[in-house]
Amino acid sequence: MDKYLIAVLPGDGIGPEVMREGVKTLKLIGERFSHNFELREALVGGGAIDKFGQPLPAESLSLCKDASATLLGAVGGSKWDNLPSSKRPEKALLGLRGELGVFANLRPIKLFKSLISSSPLKRSVIKEGIDILIVRELTGGIYFGHPRGRCDLPDGTVKAINTLSYTEMEIERIFRVAFKLARERSGKLTSVDKANILETSQLWREIGERISKDYPEVKLNHLYVDNCAMQLIKDPHQFDVIVTGNLFGDILSDEAAMLTGSIGMLASASLGKDKKALYEPVHGSAPDIAGKDKANPLAMIMSVALMLRYSFNLYKEAKVIEEAVEEVLNKGYRTQDIKIKGKKPVGTKKMGDLVRKQINLICDKLESRGG
Ligand code: NAD
Repeated sequence: MDKYLIAVLPGDGIGPEVMREGVKTLKLIGERFSHNFELREALVGGGAIDKFGQPLPAESLSLCKDASATLLGAVGGSKWDNLPSSKRPEKALLGLRGELGVFANLRPIKLFKSLISSSPLKRSVIKEGIDILIVRELTGGIYFGHPRGRCDLPDGTVKAINTLSYTEMEIERIFRVAFKLARERSGKLTSVDKANILETSQLWREIGERISKDYPEVKLNHLYVDNCAMQLIKDPHQFDVIVTGNLFGDILSDEAAMLTGSIGMLASASLGKDKKALYEPVHGSAPDIAGKDKANPLAMIMSVALMLRYSFNLYKEAKVIEEAVEEVLNKGYRTQDIKIKGKKPVGTKKMGDLVRKQINLICDKLESRGG
């Protein structure tokens, strides 16, 4: 039996509620497909501050480094809002990403057919749904560049500085991830930059073109970031895989997320060197609905599917989860963030149960066909 060690960090707010559903789903997949998922839980975020005085305790970090993959719920909450930013729960996220070296952030932007009415875009633009994969560089660019900081000027005013820098190595490795993903999908890759103004973007484009020679089956095109922001709303179907830098990716992925109607539907994967990877829903700890059985667990459950696909190459298992989610939505079940009149309202636990019931049905069918 295959064995996989997975670090489980539920975090704060709705984190533990959605994680519970993700873990139960993972255990079911383990039973149905005979995989041994060894799950070890640790504290992160506000809960870790309360117990250990820091958001990412050494013990939790060491567990994540030993594990084949890390599942994270969400961190943060008003209880810790008054702490200095270097000590807040959210600091754990940057720490974890940096320490694990996860440089490629994958955000699938998928609008299921049955959720089309939840999207703010017109039906004529959405057509039969949306399926885009955004690949964002996560550990370089302006969020990490030096020099940075503030200084007092002789005239008594203040100046603040951030630096946008990218090395050839950083650009090459993110393009290689994006080309491989594009090759597995439709063979179309759009690179987004600001090459008409920025030297970093000119280097970005140059390297993208060079790497494209290694992936002849993928068609690469380039867009300026301002134009891409418009095109995502005007005609999202022109995109399949988008690759971009840290700052542009941060903004464009949130814009694209809105196309799907709810942040509760969005999963993410962050991949690094040495096969390290972190999987988490895009949403935060949602203190407004925490503890009320109102959170949508589907982003977490689909993050589990991403882990099966990208960390363990368990493609069939990942697909079973995604099909089960789609089928439950097709049957009309909705958590409050995606509710519409005439559909069946359910809470966090019930939604998780429904997905697992559907997984069992799909697995029974596969077994009866001998597959
Ligand atoms: P949020 O994503 O937590 O919530 C935004 C809105 O979306 C809220 O109305 C919330 O109820 C709703 N929402 C979020 N997830 C949902 C789900 N699964 N189902 C249904 N509705 C959902 O963002 P916020 O309110 O800006 O931040 C709240 C806290 O989370 C803050 O402390 C913030 O710093 C933190 N945060 C953490 C992460 C993370 O852990 N990765 C990401 C973003 C924000």
